[in-house]
Amino acid sequence: MSKKKPAKRIINNASRSFRIFTFGCQMNENDSEKISGMLKALGYVEEMDVNKAGLVILNTCSVRENADERVFGNIGAYKTVKKTNPDLILAVCGCMMQQPEIVNQIVSKYPQVDLVFGTHNLHQFPELLNNYMVNGKRLVEVWDDSDTIVEDLPVDRKYPFKGFVTIMNGCNNFCTYCIVPYTRGREVSRQPDKIFAEVKALVADGCAEVTLLGQNVNSYGNDLDETVNFASLLRQLNTIDNLKRIRFMTSHPKDLSDAVIDAIAACDKVCNYIHLPIQSGSTRVLKAMNRKYTQEDILDRVRAVREKIPGVAITTDLIVGFPGETEADFLETLKVIELCQFDSAFTFLYSIRTGTPAATMADQIPDAVKHDRINRCLEVLHRISHDINQTYQGQVVEVLVEEPSRNNPERMTGRTRTSKLVNFPGDPTDIGTQVMVKITAAKTFSLDGEKIEQEDTHGAADTHDDPIPANS
Ligand code: SF4
Repeated sequence: MSKKKPAKRIINNASRSFRIFTFGCQMNENDSEKISGMLKALGYVEEMDVNKAGLVILNTCSVRENADERVFGNIGAYKTVKKTNPDLILAVCGCMMQQPEIVNQIVSKYPQVDLVFGTHNLHQFPELLNNYMVNGKRLVEVWDDSDTIVEDLPVDRKYPFKGFVTIMNGCNNFCTYCIVPYTRGREVSRQPDKIFAEVKALVADGCAEVTLLGQNVNSYGNDLDETVNFASLLRQLNTIDNLKRIRFMTSHPKDLSDAVIDAIAACDKVCNYIHLPIQSGSTRVLKAMNRKYTQEDILDRVRAVREKIPGVAITTDLIVGFPGETEADFLETLKVIELCQFDSAFTFLYSIRTGTPAATMADQIPDAVKHDRINRCLEVLHRISHDINQTYQGQVVEVLVEEPSRNNPERMTGRTRTSKLVNFPGDPTDIGTQVMVKITAAKTFSLDGEKIEQEDTHGAADTHDDPIPANS
């Protein structure tokens, strides 16, 4: 893959300290926790100042093309950093490295990069680092794919009270706008006993909440024994003593089965919250996106979720301005938002992702039209979020306290089981605990409240009733 023969580098005084920069999604955050865990197991310590660190790792994301540009900008800056910190080792990994043209670009234009590895051989990082340190020669090692998930890597968790647990890698869906199946490979599920053991160990370490991660958790187990599926995994994890909350992401609407919905409803530890990315409300656009469901399917799944899971909150992802999206298609999306009453949504302007089928589709939508549509979309979403949040006024909700509020350290912030952000006066001893909070003010994006003592909450846990009737 190399175009230029790199010079052998003498590493005189590399300090055993590191800094990781993570781009992209929770899967990448979880990978960074593993890289950090492996480094700490080797005796490395974290160093926030890149001018002092012995090792900097950029864990990249390739979902958006402008994210690529940001990463190249970042890599470029290390030419200067290396002048003041000449012993620095720069490693680049993550989804972008699964694209050969990106690796070629790095190899030919960015001599400051010492080590390149991919998502499928993350576990090799300590070995690659050691090889680099012994030989001083740039190393590029990227596996195309992998049909196994390496178990028992040390994980350096960001929060002691909540943790990510990857349950599967890859995706089989090939949505026409998405690069993930090309960078993360096909779906590979972890064995349920390995997941169970990891969650149990986390809980033994004081973890109250786990978030199960996969590109499409609803198809977990399709590649395993036929008795294993996402519903059975949820039911199994729900039996773990002292585990308080189970979350998961992401759910593909086409695979959200009744069995999964029933398991969420039946398992007291599984939060009454689903992130269900619909992307569009127009059946025509959904077909062009290769999402394999229709508007009717979305409404059917949302209806089933609301009927079976009391007080559930549903959030979504939306792509506005997909190639060929007409005004009529966009109005279908607005209609579906109104019918589904999403608690909130991540909205994206469609942007071309080279290497995907949608990048070369005719009828790319002009930017001005995309901006107009996203603004109209946000107006509807914000109104609905605001109205739903108003229904929390006066309710007592359980909050897992996460950290001091960014704007006021005398206030703590945390999340309800429905994933609502709540701010309340508190102190750092609350962090990592579950407290009961009476909601006193509701805003569009968060709730304010007052902590109430446990004895005052008799019968009040989860008192927030379903504010939304089952729709359509
Ligand atoms: S389901 Fe579609 S959008 Fe999600 S990762 Fe797979 S291909 Fe990408």
